[in-house]
Amino acid sequence: MKQLLKYLLLLFLFPACVINVNAQANYTKITNYRVYYGWAKHTPRDWMIIRQFDNDNKSYFLLVNPQTLETRIDEPDFYQVKPMTLDEAKLFFKTSPYIKALQKADKQSVNTQDAGIESGMPKQTGITLTADLCPSHRPLDKRIFTDIIAQFKKVERPVPVALSITGIWMRQHPQDLEWLKKMQQDGEIYITWINHSFNHRVSATLPLKQNFLLEAGTNINYEVMETEIAMLKNGLLPSVFFRFPGLVSDQKLVFEITNFGLIPIGTDAWLAKGQQPQAGSIVLIHGNGNEPVGVNDFIKLLKSKTKSIAKKQWLLYDLRESVDEEFQGE
Ligand SMILES: [Zn+2]
Repeated sequence: MKQLLKYLLLLFLFPACVINVNAQANYTKITNYRVYYGWAKHTPRDWMIIRQFDNDNKSYFLLVNPQTLETRIDEPDFYQVKPMTLDEAKLFFKTSPYIKALQKADKQSVNTQDAGIESGMPKQTGITLTADLCPSHRPLDKRIFTDIIAQFKKVERPVPVALSITGIWMRQHPQDLEWLKKMQQDGEIYITWINHSFNHRVSATLPLKQNFLLEAGTNINYEVMETEIAMLKNGLLPSVFFRFPGLVSDQKLVFEITNFGLIPIGTDAWLAKGQQPQAGSIVLIHGNGNEPVGVNDFIKLLKSKTKSIAKKQWLLYDLRESVDEEFQGE
């Protein structure tokens, strides 16, 4: 009750907090970051807890709304909490799109490349854009963002994009990251942050089955958790999505990722590889400057759709909604 009063008082005194919902706190003193599953109830909504951590002597949860796949960071005091194992939580939320998506990923886990969810609903006219920020010494390819903002100006604002981010890229590109955050704060774009591993190791010589996260000596716990911690330090909200570096995985690795409560996101349209996007495609381009061909193709695609965009017949979709809709009512 005291908490609630404090909250209401804050809302009353600082209406800016309410309006600027996109601004995310920077958690710069994180300790005890760990996987923690459970049910958190705050009437009328049920949330699933996936992480717990402390920051500056305060405890926090990372929560997911299993119906909408939205995530949030919040203090435990606001909720009625019931800790669960992942299996218990899966059973409890079994009819939700979130759990169904995790289970589908497990089923498709045998593919060496492109395991996981790789397209949204085909009835959608438009695509979901994902851009990967693998480690790179080149600057962010800003054309992606300036072009979508210009094209969708009168149609969709903010324009949804999903960015797969690595710990190394965050460390290498603080100014590019600030630029992206500013675009989000200004309401130009809405970014769903996908975990793309911390180090994103890659070998030019090893076969796929021993490459990327399958390389000997890889510490999956570090790759997943340190990326989330780095996101939180930088003021980014982690989502429940993961993209395998090189889109390479095996069954064991997929199970490890889904055990973190993360849904692997593949692609059915890697533009630089000549794959043509269909209605509902999850399109992959690289935003890290290493694959200008894919970005050029994407910009060409946008130009070819100018008329349909103006008529709202071709849109960009929010990854959370695309995955969510695929598993609604299934
Ligand atoms: Zn990558």
